[in-house]
Amino acid sequence: KGMMEKVLWRRSMQLRDQQRAWQESSEGREMLEFRKSLPAYKERDAVLSAISQNQVIIISGETGCGKTTQIPQFVLESEIESGHGASCNIICTQPRRISAMSVSERVASERGEQLGESVGYKVRLEGVKGRDTRLLFCTTGILLRRLLVDRSLKGVSHVIVDEIHERGMNEDFLLIVLKDLLPRRPELRLILMSATLDADLFASYFGTAQILHIPGFTYPVRTHFLEDILEGTGYKLTPYNQIDDYGQEKMWKMSKQAPRKRKSQIASVVEDALKAADLKDYSNQTRESLACWNPDCIGFNFIEYLLCYICENERPGAVLVFMTGWDDINSLKDKLLAHPLLGDQTRVLLLACHGSMASSEQRLIFDEPEDGVRKIVLATNIAETSITINDVVFVLDCGKAKETSYDALNNTPCLLPSWISKVSAQQRRGRAGRVQPGECYQLYPRCVYNAFVEYQLPEILRTPLQSLCLQIKSLNLGSISEFLSRALQSPELLAVQNAIEYLKVIGALDENENLTVLGRYLTMLPVEPKLGKMLLLGAILNCLDPILTVVSGLSVRDPFLTPFDKKDLAEAAKSQFSRDYSDHLALIRAYEGWKNAEREYAGYDYCWKNFLSLQSMKAIDSLRMEFYSLLRDTGLVDSNSTSYSAWSYDEHLVRAVICYGLYPGVCSVVHNEKSFSLKTMEDGQNSVNSREAKIPYPWLVFNEKIKVNSVFLRDSTAVNDSMLLLFGGSISSGDIDGHLKMLGGYLEFFMKPAVAEMYQCVRRELDDLIQS
Ligand code: ADP
Ligand code: MG
Repeated sequence: KGMMEKVLWRRSMQLRDQQRAWQESSEGREMLEFRKSLPAYKERDAVLSAISQNQVIIISGETGCGKTTQIPQFVLESEIESGHGASCNIICTQPRRISAMSVSERVASERGEQLGESVGYKVRLEGVKGRDTRLLFCTTGILLRRLLVDRSLKGVSHVIVDEIHERGMNEDFLLIVLKDLLPRRPELRLILMSATLDADLFASYFGTAQILHIPGFTYPVRTHFLEDILEGTGYKLTPYNQIDDYGQEKMWKMSKQAPRKRKSQIASVVEDALKAADLKDYSNQTRESLACWNPDCIGFNFIEYLLCYICENERPGAVLVFMTGWDDINSLKDKLLAHPLLGDQTRVLLLACHGSMASSEQRLIFDEPEDGVRKIVLATNIAETSITINDVVFVLDCGKAKETSYDALNNTPCLLPSWISKVSAQQRRGRAGRVQPGECYQLYPRCVYNAFVEYQLPEILRTPLQSLCLQIKSLNLGSISEFLSRALQSPELLAVQNAIEYLKVIGALDENENLTVLGRYLTMLPVEPKLGKMLLLGAILNCLDPILTVVSGLSVRDPFLTPFDKKDLAEAAKSQFSRDYSDHLALIRAYEGWKNAEREYAGYDYCWKNFLSLQSMKAIDSLRMEFYSLLRDTGLVDSNSTSYSAWSYDEHLVRAVICYGLYPGVCSVVHNEKSFSLKTMEDGQNSVNSREAKIPYPWLVFNEKIKVNSVFLRDSTAVNDSMLLLFGGSISSGDIDGHLKMLGGYLEFFMKPAVAEMYQCVRRELDDLIQS
């Protein structure tokens, strides 16, 4: 033991000398100067002494003050200085993989090192970590996975959980596990960091915790709400209420009014933008017509004109545009690149900032462009608190957000853009005032802002808990409801019970709440269980290609557009694709049609003619890749094959797989004399399906049921008895043989040969699956 200690001591002294040498080099001194200018640096001693005296420390401070890059570094430096450099083990979690990667790189360079020396990172499928790595940045998911095999985090000296104000599901989950661990590991230190934060909530959760605040400074930022932007133009906003599928939504109609004789420059720019938007910006159109003000249809033109105005008339400074997601960003970027000024690389540096950007692009975001070049960054809410771009002076905020594609895979509903909270809006605005007074264009009316919620509800309270429950089971954390009752803010008991019940019905959990084989596979796929089931069976039955389209389609904004004033035309367009009582098959056809058109560079026209959203099509395209790589991780598809394309597939098989995924979302079709109604299985509510006169199938499986005045089903597919028998319910339970034998008898009597063959195939595959 003495020998070991000596080796560690010697290694630690080497690290100390290395650290000192760097800090005395000229580059190192310059870097240290920069670091010392950050507000966090002024609190260095306070932070370190708090950490030595408390097990739990909570640190809050304005975005950009240096929490993420500095605090873990302080800990590392002080451990090295005190001779523990070779034995400390610091883990800092980030909610997103992109921040884990970019922060680790930054910290390594602040220490004059390459990644993989004392600083490393680890995210799903990727990582750089060496023998000497003492500070590891990773995603929250990675730490949770590590807990699976190493329950007491042996050898870890500090856990730093960053960005806890976001209150993501994974972070809340991690806190429960860590809280249990702390008494068993008295020397372990837990540091929680956040931008804006209800520190008391966290402190009382942990009993005793020291709270530290890092004071920051920002310049004033002038706010322009939508009506301010429209001031003096020939347009005005009038509110009205619209009833849509989700209930009542406040909308604003943009109507024409007599323009002022003498207009300000910005007013005429805005007016031109709106005139142009009315005419040609269709790709952003949603259910509502363009005349209605909704951030989804702000029109890229409007943003384009505003950017142009800023480039031509405003003082120097970078522009940060907050968009809802990376699909929007990509489409807008394509559009702007075609613009004579904004696409001119000698005058404008146009960059994207989202969860799946390339790392070469990441670095450019932080660089200051050459003189006379305007930097414009199109970002998701990732730039709200986790990434700070120093030279931003102008912010354009569309007011909505959705998760980046990777994170959102955890949870489909998050992929729909929704209004942000007041706190988020303030954060976004604050990004404009870091170096000098700034301007923020909030592209929504003031009254919309006033109606924003103060804080976003924590994810654990607002999203389905099925995936979380599976994860609790896979970590062997005991009873699900008992475990969740110890959360920072526990979800409702009913929500937990519903989730468990659902998991039992689909066969992911058995009667005693234990994971089944299916459940274990589902935990490997970070998607909603119903999507996971479809992917698994699609892979097993070799019809993955269409299923990838369906699953991706269910995760993006409805690609079938129904503009306000062209409802009939749009429905006629959709009906060409949906001749067989299935929204999902219609989507597959639409996507394949688009893909073919795209090959001949006619993708845009195809969408335009068929009332399809180009953005959604592109989003589906890249999600397909993403889902495919998830499946490859599970080993269910050949990891060597790069292609999953098989353009010919059996439509019945696809229906069956959809049925497998959507069960228990089933209703029976009841025909009356003239019309028909639908009865859902669970509660017998009646609902009316859309325009079909008659459905020649006994059942419909559906993705979502929404209750407004009557019940509406979204995205349904008609299925027959045999599909429901074979694929509805759980087929992976212990009694699979009996189940299948019984069905086998059935099949011989009345099923089509194709289905019989399918059954044989399922059975063989399932047998193999269970064996393995
Ligand atoms: P916080 O976590 O408090 O929001 P950070 O530690 O992320 O702050 O950032 C502190 C400062 O370091 C910011 O001013 C930011 O601009 C700068 N910074 C962070 N990452 C990079 C990078 N990769 N390149 C250049 N500067 C960076
Ligand atoms: Mg940070």
